[in-house]
Formats: sequence, C-alpha cells, structure tokens
Amino acid sequence: MLSNIMGKEYFILKALMTITAAVMMICLVQKTYNYFSSPAAKIPVSVNYHFSRVCNKSCGFCFHTASTSYIETMGNAKRGLLALKMAGMKKINFAGGEPFMHRKFLGQMIDYCKEVLYLESVSIVTNGSLVTEAFLATYGKHIDILAVSCDSFDEVTNIKIGRGSGNQVGKLYEIRDLCKKYGIKFKLNTVVCKLNFEEDMNQFINALQPFRWKCFQVLIVEGENDSSETLRDGRKFTITDEQYEHFCAKHRHQKSFVAEPNNLMAKTYLILDEYMRSLDRTGKEPSPSESILKVGVKDALDGVYWDETGFASRGGVYDWTREKPSCAEKVQSLNGD
Ligand code: SF4
Repeated sequence: MLSNIMGKEYFILKALMTITAAVMMICLVQKTYNYFSSPAAKIPVSVNYHFSRVCNKSCGFCFHTASTSYIETMGNAKRGLLALKMAGMKKINFAGGEPFMHRKFLGQMIDYCKEVLYLESVSIVTNGSLVTEAFLATYGKHIDILAVSCDSFDEVTNIKIGRGSGNQVGKLYEIRDLCKKYGIKFKLNTVVCKLNFEEDMNQFINALQPFRWKCFQVLIVEGENDSSETLRDGRKFTITDEQYEHFCAKHRHQKSFVAEPNNLMAKTYLILDEYMRSLDRTGKEPSPSESILKVGVKDALDGVYWDETGFASRGGVYDWTREKPSCAEKVQSLNGD
C-alpha cells in the first residue's frame, strides 16, 4: 500500500518535471523564433561585455571609466549570456575596467561560455598587470584570445599615460610566453595618442609576434573622457587623422597590424556595460539602452546604432578560436587523466 502511494507520488513528480522541461523548451524555441523572424533583429555575433568598470590603472584617455563599482550577480550574468547565445552570439570578449580585478567571477563566466554555451571564442582584454600563471593554468583551456594593452615600449611614456609603474613591458613578454604555454592566442592592443604616435614599435612587434595587433586612434566619448568634469579628460591626448596615419604608415607592414581609426571604433562594436545595457558610442541614439535582462536582447540592441557592414569590413569576424589544446591538457592526456 505504502509503496503504491510512493510510486504514484514519484510518477506525478516525474510527470510534472517533464511538463516543466517541455514548457521551458517551447518558450525558448518561441523566443528564438520571434527573435530571428523579426526583420530588424540584429545578430550579436561578437559581443564585448564590460562587466566591471573598476581598474587598477588610471590611463588619462580611458573611455570606460570607473563611474560605478557595480557588478551583476553570477546568476544574472549567466542569464544574459544565455540570451545572447540564443540570439546568435559566437564570440564574447570580457573587458573592463580590468577584468582580472574579479578573478573568480571572470573564471566562472569563462567556464560557462565554453562548457554550457559552447561559444566559438572567449577572449579577454586586460592591462596585463594582474594576469597570473595560476589563473591561466586553471582556465586557459577555455580561453581563445588574451589581448593585452600596451601603448608604449618606453616605460616613461607608459607612466605618463597613467598605465605604468615601470614593469609594463617585462610583463608583456611574460604573458606572451604563458599564452604560448597554454595554447592561447596572444593579441596586442595599442591606443595611438599624442604621447606615442611618433614611436617606432617594429622591433618589439617582431619579437613579440602577436597574432593580431590592434592600433586604435584615441577616442573621446561624451560623459566618459570629454571634459574636466569627467573622471578622465582625454582631450589632451587626441591626435589628428594625419598623425594617426603617420603611426600606421610606420607599422602597416606588420602582418598582425589592424588599424582602427575613430570612425570605425565608435560604431562597429556591440558593447554591454556592467548592467548588461547596450552602449551607443556614436551619439546617434540615446545611450545606454535598457538592460537585456529586463527587455531582452532584441529591444536592447534596437536602441543603439551598430554598423554591421562596418563590423564585417573591419574584419570583425576572424580566426578567433584557439588552435590546439593547452600544454596542461596534453600532459593530462599523456597521464591518462
Ligand atoms: S584604459 Fe584600460 S587599463 Fe587604462 S584605466 Fe581604462 S580600463 Fe584601466
């Protein structure tokens, strides 16, 4: 009798779980269908999630400043990332602030993006100062690209920019070696500004051999670095298009070189801030949007200007997946782990 009742309860419980799973699946399929069937739907193929604004450096031209110290809960961040994946995201770039200020949070998102969402590419942009071998040994197998910012190979200039305490360049070589060891693509980002546009970086690029070297023209963003009232005043670092071209002409022959002048930078990136709101850097649309956690991906992206053609023509989709398993994985497989 007792076992009969327990059997019935078990059956009802199982039926309820099956129905719940089926309803969730139908909702997900419905949402995805709605998203893609809408004529205006933007496909967020590659997304930059600036999950925290906090940074341990103080670059004078920074255009994503520490105006809040907010960070989403892990549950919300995962929910947002899942919604983006359902809307077509293939690559995520974790940026800041400095992402390595929140190591545990960063590590959990990296694992989630690879183990659950199966994203093609997970990348991180960092100033490099807090990157450790222990972190890369743990999470490196799920990191495709590590992009390190370096604006000068002269430490005096780095200090003037606000990025250095004198060990920026040495750390860069250390990270390049760690990337090699753990099978991560090593990328360099340089902001070209008044203090470095005349610098010849060729010998260092030859030695470092990044797979991609992005050279951005320093950018002024309203409310971030455009006046003496904002946390940074980037106006004293700006250069003319001719000065930017002067730098590019000197380095364009490098096979890793990718130029990003202001007109491309402002409109070809999909940027989410710490609240998972979409940011418009063109000044064409009100910014930020509502959070994707509140209104969904489509409505959040509808609220910003994003030049998909420009994104494609600046080479926004490229060879962004790591090529080989890390040394650590190889050692494990040799050991039969
Ligand atoms: S530019 Fe990057 S490293 Fe410099 S202060 Fe801003 S977030 Fe930090």
